[in-house]
Amino acid sequence: MVVAAEHTLYIVATPIGNRDDVTLRAIETLKRCKRIYAEDTRHSKPLLQHHGISVPLMPLHEHNETIAAEAVADFIESTGSAALISDAGTPLISDPGYRLVRVCQARGIRVSPVPGASALTAAICAAGLPTDRFIFAGFPPAKTNARQKWLATLEASGYTVVLYESPHRITATLQDIQQSFGAGREMTMARELTKRFETIVRASVSDVSELLQRDSQQQRGEFVLILSGKTDEVSAASEMQLNQEKLMSTLLTYLPLKSAAKCASEITGQPRKDLYNFGLLLQKKHKLD
Ligand code: SAM
Repeated sequence: MVVAAEHTLYIVATPIGNRDDVTLRAIETLKRCKRIYAEDTRHSKPLLQHHGISVPLMPLHEHNETIAAEAVADFIESTGSAALISDAGTPLISDPGYRLVRVCQARGIRVSPVPGASALTAAICAAGLPTDRFIFAGFPPAKTNARQKWLATLEASGYTVVLYESPHRITATLQDIQQSFGAGREMTMARELTKRFETIVRASVSDVSELLQRDSQQQRGEFVLILSGKTDEVSAASEMQLNQEKLMSTLLTYLPLKSAAKCASEITGQPRKDLYNFGLLLQKKHKLD
């Protein structure tokens, strides 16, 4: 089986957690390349050792990619094939490699994928939400204002929306998702996929948020968030939320939170506790504006 043609850049997927989630072709290709470019060589070393791969490792990360790309292409032309791997999953999926691929293509170097694990495909196939059409939006912006604007551009999508998030921002992002997508939007939180504490929860946005508030262990690790697209049903629910927001905002200008929630509950028939929590969120939001 010929797995590594001469003078090719191979884009090789590596595991997202479980070390054995790597294909036979990925291992063979990595063994036969003259050099492996990795985001973090110290991070990739144990995986390569585990699979008996002892090819020289060089760094290629977002900070040196522009400069390194021409040198990588020179190396492939003069010496032979090289592979690009990232810390986890498929390179270029929220990871470096785009510039390198363009440079190699511009110089007529063959670029060939060796597909495998990605948190995106792992999460969406087990999410229980429509997969026929989806938007992969990557990481939300780190700053609250920018994130809220960014989420607002995705909220009306009829397609399932997939996001990546880190443990540092997971609770803030979920709060912002609740604000723009509505508390009742169905979503799946896929956490620590293929690892010991893998958790996949499909519930409303507010229930997922509550789970993380209740159990701080659930705020740890790596996350993929999958949000249901906006269907007619979802539109009706978000109109209800909009009305609820108007009602609570008005009541809160005249009454303290507890009384506003009681009053809104009498008018709408919704549980007082839900309205109280919603009021809390509104108050926080207005403080931020
Ligand atoms: N290239 C990778 C891929 O193919 O999925 C993604 C790299 S991106 C820098 C890292 C993000 O991917 C994490 O912050 C998290 O959102 C997601 N991720 C990676 N591994 C994961 C896992 N085992 N479980 C859940 N999410 C994961």
